[in-house]
Amino acid sequence: MAHILIVEDEEHIARMIEATLALGSHTSRWCDNGGDAPALIEKGGFDLILLDVMLPGLDGFAVMERIRGLNIPVIFLSAMQEVADKVRGLRLGAEDYISKPFEPLELLARVDVVLRRRGRGQDVLEYGPIRQDLGSHTVTLDGEPVALSPKEFDLLKVFLQHQNLALSRDRLLSMVWGYEFAGESRTVDIHVQRLRQKLGLTDRLVTLTRVGYRLEKLK
Ligand code: CA
Repeated sequence: MAHILIVEDEEHIARMIEATLALGSHTSRWCDNGGDAPALIEKGGFDLILLDVMLPGLDGFAVMERIRGLNIPVIFLSAMQEVADKVRGLRLGAEDYISKPFEPLELLARVDVVLRRRGRGQDVLEYGPIRQDLGSHTVTLDGEPVALSPKEFDLLKVFLQHQNLALSRDRLLSMVWGYEFAGESRTVDIHVQRLRQKLGLTDRLVTLTRVGYRLEKLK
């Protein structure tokens, strides 16, 4: 189960994609132009972006350039058949490139491959001795259950899905608390501190001075 942003200006295609993703138990949101997409994506909460190339506002390549630092997987959707465009999309860091028209089930299969590869949409996330089961909403450390509050649970999920990436307090606030929580970055600090204590992450969940936090990837 993943939450997917569809950036596509043609409504009938967007609706078809929405219905297809729902078949795969994914939820989605539709954005009908390139201009609004970067801000929407920066707010967080999406596991994958399906990005059309020819869009009003910014085209798909320009959107990709703006969001590439966010480490969210992107699949380009395009009617352009040219190999050069495909190469351009992949060079920009896209995970895949699907030519229109496409079969709904092919789209779903490719989405699932990317989500699996990126550890998103998975029901179980693992990090050394830590195992987070998103289905049953449980966390274990060396097989022993660990009690986390709902926000601690969500914060852990964000760190496990964004390993090695510097995450600012503002970004964590908007991803976990879901809205601008101006001036309340202390909330993040408190929750990070609790995760470190409960899960033995003191060395791995590092503080980046004046930036935020990063969970270091295990070798
Ligand atoms: Ca288009």
